[in-house]
Amino acid sequence: MEMIAGLIGTPSVSSTDPRLDMGNREVIELLAGWLGALGFRVEILPVDIARGKFNLMGTLGAGSGGLVLAGHTDTVPWDEHRWHHDPFRLTEANARLYGLGTADMKAFLALAVEAARDLDPRTLRRPLVILATADEETSMAGARTLEDEGRQPGRYAIIGEPTGMQPVRMHKGMMMEAITIQGRSGHSSDPALGESALEAMHRVIGEIIAWRTELQAANRDPAFAVPFPTLNLGHIHGGDNPNRICGECELQLDLRPLPGMDLDALRSTLQERVRGALQDTAVQVRFGTLLDGVPAMQTDANSEIIRTAESLTGHPAGAVAFGTEGPFLSRLGTETVVLGPGDIAQAHQPDEFLALDRIEPMLALLKKFIRRFCVDGR
Ligand SMILES: [Zn+2]
Repeated sequence: MEMIAGLIGTPSVSSTDPRLDMGNREVIELLAGWLGALGFRVEILPVDIARGKFNLMGTLGAGSGGLVLAGHTDTVPWDEHRWHHDPFRLTEANARLYGLGTADMKAFLALAVEAARDLDPRTLRRPLVILATADEETSMAGARTLEDEGRQPGRYAIIGEPTGMQPVRMHKGMMMEAITIQGRSGHSSDPALGESALEAMHRVIGEIIAWRTELQAANRDPAFAVPFPTLNLGHIHGGDNPNRICGECELQLDLRPLPGMDLDALRSTLQERVRGALQDTAVQVRFGTLLDGVPAMQTDANSEIIRTAESLTGHPAGAVAFGTEGPFLSRLGTETVVLGPGDIAQAHQPDEFLALDRIEPMLALLKKFIRRFCVDGR
């Protein structure tokens, strides 16, 4: 409880808005102190030194394989006026622990440290690794840095994102793109005086919706509540006045692919189709990426980490609608299950909480995983 309070009491907001963005060094140092005292070899890995962002990898025991307990150290920003508790002071009330990061997901990191407390490193046949990352809530820079540097943390991983203690092996990917059409403005009384970007965008939207229909017909997965890829046209802006031909128009969209759909391939098909729709026009088009995409996640149903998670929790591994660092770990060869004590309904909300009755069961669960993967040495 002291460790959870310490982590909650150390603000580490990550935000794409530089006025809200904070470093995570102090959270990393808290974890480093606790893990060092338990005999872990602790590495603090720079992610973005100028912005004060670091990952931490703590290892107990030696050898290959092993189990990783992974979580992000950052939280989203908070709405000052909508919280009834201090977001940075762990508050126990109504059989709940309130605070920013209780469910999503600093409390899990404290539980991971606690699960390792009574371990004798000499009994470990495979290493136990605790991985704490930076900037999951924004750029996933921490996980991307691990991938760029080829730092495979271990053979199997549990990411303690809020899944209500049920194992998850799949989620969709996510990408956000902008399409900007440059036409030419002119007096509305004579169409020959300009080139309407808005009318060109009308063609583009028609083409994108046709593409979406094809994507959704070709890709289905009943494991997901929304069993097809989604493509949302979320923002459009163009022109300034009814009596001027619209000179520029921008569209922003969000695309959420199923596992198996490649982000780069989707991006190039999108660009191809947009260019095709504008072929016989005089407008110019630019493409922009608003967020580096997050790939979809899919861990094999027969992976040892999935089978173990299913047998220890009594729940089949499912799919969720939110993204995680899982696909980055997967690409490093770490087979990953997402399994944590919080509920997603409380994440990113005022009065975020973790139910007290999740703490002991999650701790017991983590100890069983450690026994199975590190002591018995799968
Ligand atoms: Zn999270």
